[in-house]
Amino acid sequence: MEVRTRFAPSPTGYLHIGGLRTALYAWLFARKNKGSFILRIEDTDRERLVDDACRVIYDTMREAGLYYDEGPDVGGDYGPYIQSERKDLYKKYAEELVEKGAAYYCFCTKERLEQLHDAVKDGNVAKYDKHCLKLSPEEIKEKLDAGVPYVIRQNIPETGETTYEDAVFGTITVPNCDMDDNVLLKSDGYPTYNLANVVDDHLMGITHVIRGVEYLSSTPKYNLLYDALGWQKPEYIHLPPVMKDKHQKLSKRNGDASYEDFIKKGYIKDAIINYIALLGWSPAGTQEIFSLEELTEAFSLEGLSKSPAIFDNEKLTWMNAEYLRNMSLEQFEELARPYMAQAIDTDRFDTMLISRLIQPRTEVLTEIPGKIAFLQKMPEYSSDLYFHKKMKTSAETAPPMLKAAREALSGLDDFTEEGVHDLLIGLAEKLEVKNGQLMWPVRVALSGEPVTPGGAVEIAVLLGKEETLKRLDDAIAALE
Ligand code: GLU
Repeated sequence: MEVRTRFAPSPTGYLHIGGLRTALYAWLFARKNKGSFILRIEDTDRERLVDDACRVIYDTMREAGLYYDEGPDVGGDYGPYIQSERKDLYKKYAEELVEKGAAYYCFCTKERLEQLHDAVKDGNVAKYDKHCLKLSPEEIKEKLDAGVPYVIRQNIPETGETTYEDAVFGTITVPNCDMDDNVLLKSDGYPTYNLANVVDDHLMGITHVIRGVEYLSSTPKYNLLYDALGWQKPEYIHLPPVMKDKHQKLSKRNGDASYEDFIKKGYIKDAIINYIALLGWSPAGTQEIFSLEELTEAFSLEGLSKSPAIFDNEKLTWMNAEYLRNMSLEQFEELARPYMAQAIDTDRFDTMLISRLIQPRTEVLTEIPGKIAFLQKMPEYSSDLYFHKKMKTSAETAPPMLKAAREALSGLDDFTEEGVHDLLIGLAEKLEVKNGQLMWPVRVALSGEPVTPGGAVEIAVLLGKEETLKRLDDAIAALE
């Protein structure tokens, strides 16, 4: 039997990092088993529709490398893959469930339901009282013919219990009396999740349902529907939540919940995917850095954990830095260039050289503009920066060094790293000072920063001869 998994997000306008992890595991499991991975849009909650929200999902999935074999924008044999386009199907199955006694029409008014709800106290669950289950076939027909609004509710047995095996959480047993006769088909004709997930997972041939733990304890209800319709139930794999800390879930409100949020903060796709793969799943060995292919190879349901996973930003940052360090210089430059462009005129500077200098020290891409802004415009700085105890330099010792450097550099035609390096080293020797006694003040005069990517030589080359000489002149003037 072919393994078929699905990711079934609701179009909320952003892809929560926990949702992306669910998608990733479902994708990995399908790939690992040479099966199919399906994207299904669950948009039956018509009040919550967000324009373009589906596009965000398609784009994010592709960007993250989680290609789907079937889905709304790619098609497939089991479509449509958007629930709102499958509306009529659900009604048919809801009616079949009514015929089989597993569901019933309910005509209760909002007021009656509210009263019922208010009457329940003392921490009891406000359950529907099966009032409409007692209607005779004639009464039902009369109301339907008269066009009285109705919903279809699931008819949960009042006694007994329902049990199933979850691949992560083990045996789950829920007493039937704890379950409510939830609505399956709403008065607007749309199904609820309870009905739609069952109908679609069955019709789409889903073999393994991988989803959030919030569905763990309602799965028995869905299983009763599978049984009533005579359908084979899928395997269930419920995943623990992704938490911000011990108490709070990662939430949209904190601006740290979506894939997009992390991209905006300068994290790269591969690091995010790698990191979230380890949120709730542990590989057999100690390896931590995994490509998608390696994850596919290593992934197994046995490694999934029951405990909530805490999102550790520091760990993600560490991982991001690893990825940035280990990629080729060309790749890094390509990723870094838009960030460089926020601070400098990228046509004016050698972005490859900048990349070589910053690649080993960049943790997140958003640090880049701040690291290099001095190239574009000399910042205000204090002459205290010339002070360096070990190198025995200060604002007092700097001017002769800067003047000597200015003079030597002005005669240099080969303004390359090698040329500038050899010249300044030769100059230090001639002046009988340590390299640092010359290099430190030159670096400060060219950057106005206490810390820079690269030293005096690289910065001079990046700035070019003319700007280098100008900055040295300005620095000399400022010190005098
Ligand atoms: N639409 C549901 C959600 O976003 C999907 C749950 C499932 O995977 O069955 O939570």
